[in-house]
Amino acid sequence: MSPAIHTLPLGVANAFILKDQGTVLVDCGPPKKVDAFIKQLSAARIEPQDIRLIIITHGHWDHIGSAAQIKQMTGAKILMHQKERKWLEDLYAAPPQGVGGWGRFLAKTMAAVMTPFIHVQSARVDIGFDADELSLEPYGIAGRIVYTPGHTAGSISVLLDSGEAVVGDMAMNSLPMRFSPGLPVFAEDLTQLIASWRMLLSQDVQTIYPSHGGPFSPDVMRRAVS
Ligand SMILES: [Zn+2]
Ligand SMILES: [Zn+2]
Repeated sequence: MSPAIHTLPLGVANAFILKDQGTVLVDCGPPKKVDAFIKQLSAARIEPQDIRLIIITHGHWDHIGSAAQIKQMTGAKILMHQKERKWLEDLYAAPPQGVGGWGRFLAKTMAAVMTPFIHVQSARVDIGFDADELSLEPYGIAGRIVYTPGHTAGSISVLLDSGEAVVGDMAMNSLPMRFSPGLPVFAEDLTQLIASWRMLLSQDVQTIYPSHGGPFSPDVMRRAVS
């Protein structure tokens, strides 16, 4: 059986539950989203203690915001890329790097307007991922974590054997970032991001699940990076 994917919209960003023999959470949404998380978890008939691993795709505030509380509630281990663990452990905040005119405008606006309102609580990262791949078999999920840098230097994705790819902010599909699916409007290294996409698209990918917006076909990204 292939794992079920439950999308949990947590304000501006989605989190995802992957459920097969085991249950894994990908990302933790912005701060103060614990109530929404609990509600959606129970709607999906999942107990918090079922979650054995929390994979954080990268260290931006809208992905780590409720991580401390969710970790406490679930007792799950947190996995993040070694390069970005300090973003959660020490609340180090790298300013977003805009791509293109709109991306640069948004990056500036976000830094000026949103930063004072963001209250992320720090949490310990249990597993510092520092490899190209890691199988999720030990966690009861037929799939693996893959290293996909570019949006940030420590961005990671989850690729299920069934072809679904949960890619964090490697792609975006919602306003105000984008009108349609495609490359993100923020990226630390666009060249590296495109290389990550080419690597991912060379695998058997059927559906892309971005953190911002709904799922879409990998053909969109094939065109975007060709
Ligand atoms: Zn991001
Ligand atoms: Zn994001």
